[in-house]
Amino acid sequence: MPQERNQLLASTVFNLRQEYLSKRPPDFQPKLWSTKTETRKSIVITMVIPTRGCSWAFSDSGGCSVCGYVNDSSYDQVIPTQKILEEINLSLSQVDSSKPIEYKLYNSGSFFDENDVPQRLRSQIIDLIRKTNGILKLSVESRPEYLINNQKAIKKVKEMLEPIKLEIGVGIESSNNAIIRDCWNKGFSVEDYQRSVQITRTLGIRIKSYILIKPPFLTEVEAIIDAIKTACDTVEFGTDVISFNPCNIQKGTLVNHLHKQDRYQPPWIWSVLYIVKTIRKKYPNVEIICEPTAGGKHRGTHNCGKCDKTVIDLVDKIINKKKIPDDLSTICSCFLKWRILVKTPIEIFRSRNLSRLRRFDPLNE
Ligand code: SF4
Ligand SMILES: [Zn+2]
Repeated sequence: MPQERNQLLASTVFNLRQEYLSKRPPDFQPKLWSTKTETRKSIVITMVIPTRGCSWAFSDSGGCSVCGYVNDSSYDQVIPTQKILEEINLSLSQVDSSKPIEYKLYNSGSFFDENDVPQRLRSQIIDLIRKTNGILKLSVESRPEYLINNQKAIKKVKEMLEPIKLEIGVGIESSNNAIIRDCWNKGFSVEDYQRSVQITRTLGIRIKSYILIKPPFLTEVEAIIDAIKTACDTVEFGTDVISFNPCNIQKGTLVNHLHKQDRYQPPWIWSVLYIVKTIRKKYPNVEIICEPTAGGKHRGTHNCGKCDKTVIDLVDKIINKKKIPDDLSTICSCFLKWRILVKTPIEIFRSRNLSRLRRFDPLNE
């Protein structure tokens, strides 16, 4: 059941998106790219393919208030099916299969939405993957409604892939229905997410839940509380993996619009560290991922500019259960600024301008 919309939010998101997309040049080339990273135990291939793009983003809702992934999709052009298959093939042929491979296939929408990824293309992709030796797991993404309404197709993909594991990422972002509706404009409810997890797990598929850190219109501390509560709820609902995504600024979105007007700032890395630390302690055995896009940059999660990389590394250490210093104030003086921000009574410092001061150094002004 689609969740009731916040009409004002939806129409604002819609107008901003249309304005941006209408400026796309006629010779625009949808983006198709891949990366390969090697860890001690495995090889991770990430492939981003330009299918039609997220139906929710192209609907009159305008899509999620933070998401600009549709900017790179095929949208009003023909899906370059042949090119997509060739690139996937190429990425698979270059792999040394002495280590297990995790294949992450992202289409900036929903893999099980037939308007986005036509059924024939989906089968062709799965066919290529299942014929490759050494693949341990395939990760794709989907909105909950396609997991609820397209169970036959999901079951077929799962069966075709055997014994390769299938993992589906679902962006719940928040487990608070008001935040989902009034901040993220997701168009589904927590109950929809819960149902999709139940169905998918019954089919023997792993679930990765995306949680966005720092919704627009909330303060830093409200955002921290929301992310922690959401992570706990997703574990209760049965998620296998929690993926924390600190919000970053993408073109054509409401968040970008607010950021330009100084009405929105991405979260501090200290906030991300606090959230990850809390959840790691509470759930030592749950898989946690946090790979911040644009981390340390103005458009991504950032601190003062001096300690950003160090603190992002600490996040990684916590995820991997390594020890970090007890007294974080020794790492950088901006930790105390962050502490003041999150400990100050919310009503007095509701302005996000205080959050903006993280790069302000009075001694050097
Ligand atoms: S976050 Fe997902 S559901 Fe929302 S607009 Fe982007 S691709 Fe679509
Ligand atoms: Zn700092």
